[in-house]
Formats: sequence, C-alpha cells, structure tokens
Amino acid sequence: MPELPEMETLRRDLDREVGGKRIKTIDAPGRSAFSRMPKKQVLERLDGVKISSADRRGLLLTLKLDSGELLVIDVRESGGMRKTTPKEETAKGTQVVISFTQGGQLRLIDPEGNMNVWVATPEELLEQEPVLTELGLDPVVEPISWTTFGHLLLSRAQTVKQFLTDPTAVVGIGPVYSDEIIWQSGLRHDRETNQLTSQEMRRLYRAVVETLHDGAKHRGTTLADGNYHDLAGKPGGYQDMLQVYERAGEACRRCRGTIAKVRYSKSHVFMCPDCQV
Ligand SMILES: [Zn+2]
Repeated sequence: MPELPEMETLRRDLDREVGGKRIKTIDAPGRSAFSRMPKKQVLERLDGVKISSADRRGLLLTLKLDSGELLVIDVRESGGMRKTTPKEETAKGTQVVISFTQGGQLRLIDPEGNMNVWVATPEELLEQEPVLTELGLDPVVEPISWTTFGHLLLSRAQTVKQFLTDPTAVVGIGPVYSDEIIWQSGLRHDRETNQLTSQEMRRLYRAVVETLHDGAKHRGTTLADGNYHDLAGKPGGYQDMLQVYERAGEACRRCRGTIAKVRYSKSHVFMCPDCQV
C-alpha cells in the first residue's frame, strides 16, 4: 500500500505533468472506480474543465479544477496512475483514461479494482471524509517544529508504533515507513510516547522528518509486489535503502545483530532486538 513518500512523488509528478492541462475526453473502460459517485456524474463534472494544480490531503490526491471543484483520487491498496501517449497499449486494470486537449493521457489503473475516483467541492469533500478535518502533521508539506512534535507525543497514551500509524498524529505512515522510522530512532515499537525522555523524543522527531523526506527524495518504495510506480511507470528507489522492513534474518546495519519479525497488535513489525531499546 502506498504511503506518504509514494503519494507525494505522484502528487509532484501530477502537478508538473497535468497541471494547466484541459480535459478533452474521458473514457472509463473499467467500472470499479466509481463506487463513490456514479460514472455518468463524474464524466459530466469533468467535461471540458482544466486542471490547475495537484494537491494532497493525507494519502488522498486532489486535483484542483477551474470549475471550483476537485477531482479526488483515492488509490487505496492497489491503485496507480500513468501519464502516457494515446498510442500506448492499455494496461490491464485501466479504470479511467483522461485525454487532454494539448495531447497526452492520464490513465488511472487498478488491476484489483479498489481505487476510487470522484468529483467534489472542497466543502463536500470534508463532509464525505470527516477524517480530513482531523489530519495530523504532514512533515513533507509543512516543516514541523520540535516543540509541536514533543507536545503531541506527550499528549498521547499510545505506543510509538500506534502513534506513527495514526493519521490524526502524523499522516500517511503505514507498515513500511513506521518500522524504518522506529529503527532510525533506536527505540522499540512498543515504547509509550509519553514515557520517552526528551532525548528520545528528539531522536524520534529527527527520524520522522528525515525518513519521510528521504523516501520522497528517492521517489518512494516499490516493494516485491511491484505495485507502486511513479507517473512515468518507473519504480521508486527507496526500497534499496530499507534497514528493517522485510529484512528478517539479515544483519542489522547498525549493530550487526539479526533483524527480527515480531508479532505486534494483530500484525507484525520488523526490528532489531539488539539496538532498539
Ligand atoms: Zn541493531
């Protein structure tokens, strides 16, 4: 499932590649992208509009339209997108094809059919997705101060793993980047956030900011499932820099201990039992 660095990479690509382009036609070869709004309505509301910019709210992509509305794309577990020429072969699982008056197409693809595409005014979107009014820190969009972060940690009765994967604390972090951040911080996943020393809180703060920025700088993580690609269809580069995720049994690059996959809260985490305390 894509996390913040992957969605930020797609947002930047979209902003550059489709920002300023006017929609000429839309085809919807797939049916499954329209569980939020009937296909006919989506097509009508996108007819002839121009995309001005690409924004992101948590993991949702919102393309700003000159009609005052937003084209909302929720890729969920398995969705993706590609900027192509009209001649390129249609990939399996193509749900929506948007053609621009200046040429080129944006294709929304999801072989498993989980993604959702709909049109909403900014006000409607907040009503539809109340979680957006409670979104936590987004360190990639806005620099977060150490004080804000420290206060947030103290105000929560959560473990470090719960805190990082709670979108009302920090947005867009899932299994991959939470384990990486926690390893970077040298802490254990089950430490309580309001019990950390101020030095530990600073280490966690630095790990959050640096890991998410590095992830976005290296254009995201393409895991073994090969699901995630950027808008040009290229894989990300951060998978080569992962320290713990899916490295169980391999040597820790900090202490030479052995990375373990341990059960935690109905799921599991990858961590080094020797140097994470
Ligand atoms: Zn270690």
